[in-house]
Amino acid sequence: MQKEKIIIANWKMQLSLQETIDLANKYKAKFAKFKKGEVAICPNFISLLPVKTVLKGSNIKLGAQDVFWEEKGAYTGEVSPNMLKEAGCEFVIVGHSERRKHLRENYEYINRKVKTIIDSGNITPIICIGESWDERKTDRRDFVLTEQLQLALAGVDFMGDQQIIIAYEPIWAIGSGAAIESSEAEYAHKIIKLTLSQMFGMKIISGHFRIVYGGSISSKNVKEFADLENIDGLLVGGASLNAEEFYKVANVIIK
Ligand code: PEP
Repeated sequence: MQKEKIIIANWKMQLSLQETIDLANKYKAKFAKFKKGEVAICPNFISLLPVKTVLKGSNIKLGAQDVFWEEKGAYTGEVSPNMLKEAGCEFVIVGHSERRKHLRENYEYINRKVKTIIDSGNITPIICIGESWDERKTDRRDFVLTEQLQLALAGVDFMGDQQIIIAYEPIWAIGSGAAIESSEAEYAHKIIKLTLSQMFGMKIISGHFRIVYGGSISSKNVKEFADLENIDGLLVGGASLNAEEFYKVANVIIK
C-alpha cells in the first residue's frame, strides 16, 4: 500500500517568536495551493499558539519538538501530550539526537514519552533514531538501529488508528551539509522495516508506521530520495528555515 508522504520542518531553537511567525506566514502563502501529502512544521514551544493562529485555513499541520512522559503534575518546565494537543499539535518529535547529546535523553526516557503520547491517543510521535559516525565506521549501524527501535517501542500497544513516524537520522549527517547516499538511506529504512515487522507484524507496519529520512536534505540532493520505495517522507532542519527552499524540497518528495 502506498502511504501518504509527509515532510516535516524542524525549526529547532533557531528563530525568535516574531521570526517564527513571519516564517509561518511565508509557509502559509507558499503552500496555499499545495494539496499533496502532508506538511508539518515544528516551531519552539512558545510559538505554538501564535503559529496555530497563523496556520488557520491552511493545510499545514503543527508539531512540537519535545514532550514529557506524564500528563500532569509537579514537573517544572515540562509540557504534556494533552497540552500539546490543546496548542494545536498533531505531531511531536521524540528523542532527537540533539536532545540525546545535550540533555542526555536516553531510550528509557524516549520509551516513556512514546507510551504516554500513545496513551493520550491524539498525537503522532516522530521518533528519531540513528547511528553516530563511530558506530557507522565500526559496522554497528544495523545493530544500533534495531536496538534503538526495540528500546523506544518496548511495551507499545496499538489502539485504533494510532500513527507512528520513525525518523532515520544518521547523527553524522545532521547539519553537516551533506546527506548520506540515498541507497544507504534506503538500506537503513529496510532494516527499520524488518525490525518493526519482527516486533509488530507486517499488518501493523503498513497501517500504523511511516519511515522518514532526516539529515542535510536540500533542494540540491532531494531528487535522489524521491523515488525510493521505503522512504515515506523527510524531516528537514536547516533547509526548512527558508520557505522557498522548503517548498522546492516538498515538491520533489511529494508528487
Ligand atoms: C534534523 O536535525 O532533524 C535535521 C534533519 O537537520 P538538517 O536537515 O539541518 O540536517
